[in-house]
Amino acid sequence: MPSVLIKTYGCQMNVRDSEQVMRQLEARGYTFCDTETEADVILFNTCSVRDMAEQKVLGKAGAITTLKKRKPGLIVGVLGCMAQRLGGELLGKLPNVDLIVGTQKFHEVANYIDRLRGQAGHDPLVDIAEEEGSQNSIREHVLASRQVSAYVSIMQGCNMHCTFCIVPSTRGAERSRPIADIVAEVKSLATQGVREVTLLGQIVNLYGRHEFPVENGRSPFVQLLHAVCAVPGIERVRFTSPHPIGFKQDLVAAFRELPNLCEHVHLPLQSGSNRILKAMHRAYTVEQYLQLVDDLRTARPDIGLTSDIIVGYPGETEEDFLATRDAIAKVAFDNAFIFRYSPRTGTPAAEQHDQVSEEIKMERNHVLLELLDNIALEKNKSIVGSTVEILVEGESKNNPLRYSGRTRTNRPVMIEANERWLGQLLPVKILSTTGFTYYAEPVLTPETLETATV
Ligand code: SF4
Repeated sequence: MPSVLIKTYGCQMNVRDSEQVMRQLEARGYTFCDTETEADVILFNTCSVRDMAEQKVLGKAGAITTLKKRKPGLIVGVLGCMAQRLGGELLGKLPNVDLIVGTQKFHEVANYIDRLRGQAGHDPLVDIAEEEGSQNSIREHVLASRQVSAYVSIMQGCNMHCTFCIVPSTRGAERSRPIADIVAEVKSLATQGVREVTLLGQIVNLYGRHEFPVENGRSPFVQLLHAVCAVPGIERVRFTSPHPIGFKQDLVAAFRELPNLCEHVHLPLQSGSNRILKAMHRAYTVEQYLQLVDDLRTARPDIGLTSDIIVGYPGETEEDFLATRDAIAKVAFDNAFIFRYSPRTGTPAAEQHDQVSEEIKMERNHVLLELLDNIALEKNKSIVGSTVEILVEGESKNNPLRYSGRTRTNRPVMIEANERWLGQLLPVKILSTTGFTYYAEPVLTPETLETATV
């Protein structure tokens, strides 16, 4: 059977969507490979969040042209956010592409590839139409042997329209899956050995707000968390990415009530200046954000907090930037992604005339990274020497002699490779750190020795 290579760019949602495409191709007998030269079908699942991400795919997909000359039957497809944004326009940039499929049509990819393979000299096939119920189509998994953590897509789209963000136009309006379907998927994962699930959505904590009622003071998202945490075998539950405005007291309380809910929140702040937050349409103030951080820390004092921050949003003054720096210092995030603002055509912020120079963005980026490093250094002093629980996920990407796992607060931890620890919830003693990654050794107790598969 033909061999497929899928290259995935961007966020966890894209990783999850690629997995669904693989599942459907696998069901039809396609196999998968790691190199372009082996492949009969090459698919790029793309990201549109930053211009750089799109340029990267355009460069890579353009280079495939030479391969097509040598292998005329090769099928090249572009899927996902960039495909959705540009549609047929992409053919002007990538004339050799055979297939363009948007974000609501991943479930059609296998059909389209079959169709293209059956037609010599076919015309390119473009499908970026919206489809009712498409949020329900990302539900199957391709699990590796002894895989213990998995992503579960619970909703698609976003209605927030932050002024810098292209997502509402690439992913469409908010649409959520029924709780019962999600729970059935999680149960099936648990029976296959998965112990940790991460619930995914562009605005995950506003899950179901248009479809399902609040019950007993609990939002649909909190109802879902309770249901997923109750699935036998699921020992850790995470979610990403939430919006601060969706964090009401019922969700804060869930961190007290649900022991399986990991004490980590990735909580995008974006800016520490109220003026810029308002310009971004973020609908909260920095004071409200800091109050939320206090509430979360009261609910779970050891909670890990990470964030997304944008520097150089149009019109950002030195004073605005210093307010962001102060907010980061006040929260003392465990980590944060700092993004230099990148204009996306079609978003309101891209039209503004007061764009900040690249030089200033770089400088501000540097200052914040240094601040985060210093905060990490300070926090590490108390963490090195302590014992924490990790879920051992598998071989480290950079070193086969090590296994990697994550703490409940989502910090990556490396231990010496040993198959007996694979898939285990293991207490480890933190020995050292390079900043954001930790090195540790298992703490051997009668329980760890008993539960470990040798
Ligand atoms: S909430 Fe997130 S996904 Fe939605 S528009 Fe804002 S930044 Fe984009």
